[in-house]
Amino acid sequence: MMAGSRPKWDISDVDEWGPDDHELGATIPESGNSVLNITGGWRSLLPIIDCEKCDGCLLCYFYCPDASILMEDGKAVGVDLDHCKGCGICAKECPAKAITMVAEKKE
Ligand code: SF4
Ligand code: SF4
Repeated sequence: MMAGSRPKWDISDVDEWGPDDHELGATIPESGNSVLNITGGWRSLLPIIDCEKCDGCLLCYFYCPDASILMEDGKAVGVDLDHCKGCGICAKECPAKAITMVAEKKE
C-alpha cells in the first residue's frame, strides 16, 4: 500500500487501497500531523489583534480551528501565519471586540 520512504499521512494512493487497508469509519494513518498542513496560503482576510482590548478570556484560542492564536502573558498577541486561514471565527467570538479582520495584501 504505502512506499517505505513516504510519511504515513500521505494517502495520495488511497484509490488503490483494498478493503483491508481501510480502517472502519475513517482512515487516519497517523495522528498529530495537522501542523504539516500549511493553510496560511488560503487566507484572504487577516485577523489583527488589539492587545490593549484583549482581556485574556482565551475564547479565540479555543475556537480557532487551526490553533493559530498566539498567547503571551495571558493575552492574545498575534496569529501563526503559516496556519491561520483567515476564517474569522476568532473575531466573531471575541467578546471584547479585540480582533478585526482586514483584507490581506498578497505579493
Ligand atoms: S482567522 Fe480563523 S484560523 Fe485565523 S486565527 Fe482566527 S480563528 Fe484561527
Ligand atoms: S477572545 Fe478576544 S479578549 Fe478573549 S483572548 Fe481572544 S482576543 Fe483576547
